[in-house]
Amino acid sequence: MGDTSVGRLVRCHDCDLLQHVGALTSGAVARCSRCGATLFACRSQGFERAFILYLSALILLLVANTFPFLTLSVQGHNQSSHLISGAIALWHDGMWEVATAVVLFVILFPLGKILIGLSVVGPLAFGHRLPEPRQFIGCSTVCTRGR
Ligand SMILES: [Zn+2]
Repeated sequence: MGDTSVGRLVRCHDCDLLQHVGALTSGAVARCSRCGATLFACRSQGFERAFILYLSALILLLVANTFPFLTLSVQGHNQSSHLISGAIALWHDGMWEVATAVVLFVILFPLGKILIGLSVVGPLAFGHRLPEPRQFIGCSTVCTRGR
């Protein structure tokens, strides 16, 4: 006589109880039967949410680099400063190390992180699923391990 329960044997990360977790539907949460800790959660539209957040970050980064962050008005003379114009001014003043750091940490690294995130999450949000998560738990949406 074998085990008749459907699903995968999972160890609770809090109390180490071994239990079977079956297929989860969208929005379902598998909890430990002893301590109630979350074993798995099927969050609906997780990749779509991540894609929207990355897209929002990209828009905000473009806005932050397009509009001036400082405007001085002295005796009718207006001077506006953008993030890149500050780095250019630092470069012209001979502080190329600081200018390079400003360009890297304020513009290029955040832009690179956002673009990499979009390239990873974008295909997943538009239906290109990896086979492992669904086969692992039998869930039709994104399943995340508890905690
Ligand atoms: Zn437990």
